[in-house]
Amino acid sequence: MKLNLNIEPLSNWLKPQHQPLVIAGPCSAETEEQLLATADLLAKTGKISVLRAGIWKPRTRPGEFEGIGSIGLKWLQRAKEQTGLPITVEVATGKHVEEALAAGVDILWVGARSTVNPFTVQEIADALKGVDVPVMVKNPVNPDLSLWIGALERINNAGITKLAAISRGFSSYEKSAFRNEPMWELTIQLKTLCPQLPVICDPSHICGNRELIPYISQKALDLEMQGLMVESHIDPSVAWTDAKQQLTPSSLSELIDHLTIRQPDP
Ligand code: PEP
Ligand code: MN
Repeated sequence: MKLNLNIEPLSNWLKPQHQPLVIAGPCSAETEEQLLATADLLAKTGKISVLRAGIWKPRTRPGEFEGIGSIGLKWLQRAKEQTGLPITVEVATGKHVEEALAAGVDILWVGARSTVNPFTVQEIADALKGVDVPVMVKNPVNPDLSLWIGALERINNAGITKLAAISRGFSSYEKSAFRNEPMWELTIQLKTLCPQLPVICDPSHICGNRELIPYISQKALDLEMQGLMVESHIDPSVAWTDAKQQLTPSSLSELIDHLTIRQPDP
């Protein structure tokens, strides 16, 4: 399999405030107060480089909280003003891309349920033509490396060179301690096919519970991934989505203190 992506180094568009690079924030923006309070505590740790929050939530089944919608962009803008942190949001349609760009979102990400669908990815890519914005592409829900690569190629073909991949685990029929199996070999294969592509790990959606997050975060750094995207909520026990896997800003800060960046063998 050949993979020729035209990629800029991560340092061109993301200057980590701290090592390792950590993108953090709630799974979902719920209320303005929840988002601002979480963002504030995260910024005060001095260890977070980008604030994340989902406002359009792709839920597997209907009838659950599907995100606060476009109003959340205003809250994210306020959080950015208040903390000085760049902001990132998941986009799943061309309209999301337009709205997020108009609201000054700094980095966009494509979610696992969008990466599986080439029509969706192409619609996102078309909305990105002529725009210079960084985009992170999560792996698809299912363990299909070609779908992940195809999504990266479609976004890259639209002219996006500030591109990164996010490894968030893959669904599996097997019973497992993880919500989504890491299947590291797929991420390693992607890194081998395209060594210049920055890869970030999302331990939250791999683990599905708080307890395993330190182990998976360290493993990702040991595999030389360039950063982490971790879900953090001011009060995880009452989170509207992904309550079991979110960390308070202070437990996230403690987790970061315990991570080691090992130098690769010379
Ligand atoms: C998320 O980041 O909150 C999310 C929905 O993730 P994924 O697309 O990895 O399931
Ligand atoms: Mn989530």
